[in-house]
Amino acid sequence: MWLFKDKENEKSKSAPSDVDLSTQGFDLLQAMDAESIVVAPGEFVIYYSNGISNLNLIKDERVQNSDLLNLVRAVRRSGVMQEATLELPRGPIGAGTHDLLVRVTPLGDHGLIAILIFDDSEIRRLDSIRRDFVANISHELKTPIGALSILSEAVLEASDDPEAVIKFANRMQTESKRLTELVQEIIDLSRLQDDDPLKDGKRFDIAEVIHDAMDQSKLSAQVRKITLFFESTVKALVNGDRSQLSMAIHNLIENAINYSPDSTRVAIDLKVTNQIAEISISDQGIGIPEKDIERIFERFYRVDPARSRLTGGTGLGLSIVKHIALNHGGDVSVWSVEGAGSTFTLRFPIATEISESSK
Ligand code: ADP
Repeated sequence: MWLFKDKENEKSKSAPSDVDLSTQGFDLLQAMDAESIVVAPGEFVIYYSNGISNLNLIKDERVQNSDLLNLVRAVRRSGVMQEATLELPRGPIGAGTHDLLVRVTPLGDHGLIAILIFDDSEIRRLDSIRRDFVANISHELKTPIGALSILSEAVLEASDDPEAVIKFANRMQTESKRLTELVQEIIDLSRLQDDDPLKDGKRFDIAEVIHDAMDQSKLSAQVRKITLFFESTVKALVNGDRSQLSMAIHNLIENAINYSPDSTRVAIDLKVTNQIAEISISDQGIGIPEKDIERIFERFYRVDPARSRLTGGTGLGLSIVKHIALNHGGDVSVWSVEGAGSTFTLRFPIATEISESSK
């Protein structure tokens, strides 16, 4: 009898004893650039590749997705390969999806059926996001580049007035700093759009990540005499990319500081309800007008572009936060009252299994 091991989870599956799997094309499945599942008669799962665990398709050695199960049954009845697209939620909450192309085909002559799962549709989706993004970026880059060009002309014209030269040079520095930040955020966002943090995700304590993110904002809080407050004894393990989660929390804390008056307080809270970790960042700042609330997570959207320029904002911070949340199978929401303050809440499914190596 052959045993198949899912390396990551150390789970073994046994194939029916009369099946010689070496002749059933399993080697081929392992070499393919697709995730795969093999089911035996009775729709019993006897093999699945490593990446399948992220998709929540299998439970108790059975295919638990009904669309997929219907395809398997159709193949068993007809003996003909079936193809379909499948949209799976990335987690129990949030609108993030895995968009998959699925092919189901008979495998060998022992009633085995192979399910092949490709990420083609994901690639098509990313292509269209990238095209939009490039159009927006060109527009956004033109503003600081235009400002630098005008300022350098002004410096040339004021060459015999040292005070004016210093003033224009200072403004040039501000614009070039802004340009650098914009380029960095564009790079961050385009990386996030390509990445799947759940694929090679690790488990870590989200409270530690909150502390990291707070440390990064210490200086900007001090300058504005803003108190950062976090006091939670909750221990929640989240699966994903630690530096991305830290970036999301950090962006929200920076915004809370930037859009608040001096000497106010930013409170961070962590709790776990129904297997969902909830991180909220509350400020006593200017708040967000109701008409803008729907749009603030869009790329380059700012409520008040002039204010955002003053704080060095790029309009990308919240779309980065939203991407990170959705890619982790979570979501982000906001509650705000103009003039009173805002609370941004990030939610992530907590990791149910705790493996020794990632503790
Ligand atoms: P920016 O770089 O301009 O801060 P973001 O994407 O981070 O861009 O935020 C988009 C807009 O949402 C901001 O320009 C600001 O108008 C609004 N905003 C974000 N966070 C807050 C907050 N905590 N309080 C008030 N307004 C906020």
